[in-house]
Amino acid sequence: MHVKSARFVISNTEVAKCPKSKLPEYAFIGRSNVGKSSLINALCNKKNLAKTSSRPGKTQLINHFLINENWHLVDLPGFGYARVSKTQKKVFQKFITNYFKERTQLVTAFLLVDIRHEPQPIDLNFMQWLGENFIPFSIIFTKADKLKPKAIEKNIADYSKELLDTWEELPPQFVTSSLHRSGVEEVLKYIDSLNASLKMEN
Ligand code: GDP
Repeated sequence: MHVKSARFVISNTEVAKCPKSKLPEYAFIGRSNVGKSSLINALCNKKNLAKTSSRPGKTQLINHFLINENWHLVDLPGFGYARVSKTQKKVFQKFITNYFKERTQLVTAFLLVDIRHEPQPIDLNFMQWLGENFIPFSIIFTKADKLKPKAIEKNIADYSKELLDTWEELPPQFVTSSLHRSGVEEVLKYIDSLNASLKMEN
């Protein structure tokens, strides 16, 4: 897919205030610092698209971007951020879970995971929760340029093994580097194919 246009639409904390349009949307979520803003910028071919909405004070927001006038990319707040208080975490959890439960336009979620790290409980728990709520998701491994091909293979195999302890099937997986723009086209192609299958259904 060629991204011809990408623009910021709105940031908010309430699902009810998200855009009313029925355009298909794709949510990106992951731990802080996982490389989410960089990946969104790489996907959209813009240097600072995601940064504009993740400046301090705006980090706990649901950010909608309109892509090619035909689908929404949603940048969700980074979770597991050590410096937020327990109360803040609860508020955060509430509005994120509301987003996933109420946003019927959501086609799939992309959970970003740093390829260098072992499976983290927070990510595994979140996948579990998505599964229990029948929300489709894929895993996007980030920062692949930081590892050699063999190490990438090993880490993905270890990650898959861990997932297969609780899941019967593995979710779609993408290996990306925003620095090298690798894997970016695959993610866009996947979104394109989902958008096309939605059109066929209608
Ligand atoms: P966010 O907090 O998840 O939005 O993460 P950012 O996109 O702001 O990235 C966090 C840090 O990781 C920054 O220092 C980025 O430069 C770095 N980073 C993000 N993606 C990549 C990548 O693909 N490769 C490398 N080497 N560094 C990356």
